[in-house]
Amino acid sequence: MNLKDKVCIITGAASGIGHGIAERFIADGAKVVIADLKLDAAQKTADALTAQGPGTAMAVEMDVTDEAQVNAGIEAVVTKWGKIDVLVSNAGIQIVHPLQDFPFADWKKLLSIHLDGAFLTSRACLPHMYKAGSGSIIFMGSVHSKEASPLKSAYVTAKHGLLGLARVISKEGGERGVRANVICPGFVKTPLVEKQIPEQARDLGISEDEVVNRVMLGETVDQEFTTIADVAEVAHIFAAFPTNALTGQSLVVSHGWYMN
Ligand code: NAD
Repeated sequence: MNLKDKVCIITGAASGIGHGIAERFIADGAKVVIADLKLDAAQKTADALTAQGPGTAMAVEMDVTDEAQVNAGIEAVVTKWGKIDVLVSNAGIQIVHPLQDFPFADWKKLLSIHLDGAFLTSRACLPHMYKAGSGSIIFMGSVHSKEASPLKSAYVTAKHGLLGLARVISKEGGERGVRANVICPGFVKTPLVEKQIPEQARDLGISEDEVVNRVMLGETVDQEFTTIADVAEVAHIFAAFPTNALTGQSLVVSHGWYMN
């Protein structure tokens, strides 16, 4: 199972988990598309990864909630590299508030990035995958695709929704060789999580140490954060797996926080 010369689009790849997945795929010889909000950040990432090799990276400016920009970005990839083998819909944000105080604008923003983003990027990639008779779509879910936590109504709703979308794509895409799966990581120390530690301490009225040790890692089997490399390895399996045997699935990578 390898990704040599496979064209792999990763959204939100200028930071955190997306960046780690891009690095893993490049190491395997893939042609990786760094799709992110700001072209300069995406380009910097693409240049650095291409220098690492043996794969190659290109940058695409893409707000995953912008239909025209998503469609144009996917077309630019097909123009340059002729096909799309893998989509990792990873771009995401976190906003925490108790539900009774959750601003409607924040709710809509979060759902749009996670769900509209997954829909729009999948819809733009599918015709190219169907034409080729193969493709792998991977959504970045979360343990919050399976579990709930206080303060995270929008995030938990969005991450549960991705399971449904992946299952529908599996059923629609099966006969045309397209697979869809969801990765469900536990807490990974990225900018997204670093930002939540003081916010949750404030909203829950506890110390930052308690947020880390009790709220984030309390249910794990070993009080350890999941790493970017752990998640990237699972993304590699879903991306490179050669048949429809692995489709419509969600794999939890969380040091045992959630077991199913
Ligand atoms: P991060 O903040 O390090 O990276 C997120 C990236 O997404 C950034 O590069 C950002 O610019 C990009 N992005 C944000 N909005 C975008 C938009 N509208 N269009 C395009 N790009 C956009 O976060 P991360 O922790 O690496 O998170 C990546 C994904 O992993 C998210 O979907 C997140 O929900 C999921 N996740 C993270 C954790 C964790 O503990 N860090 C756990 C489970 C799931």
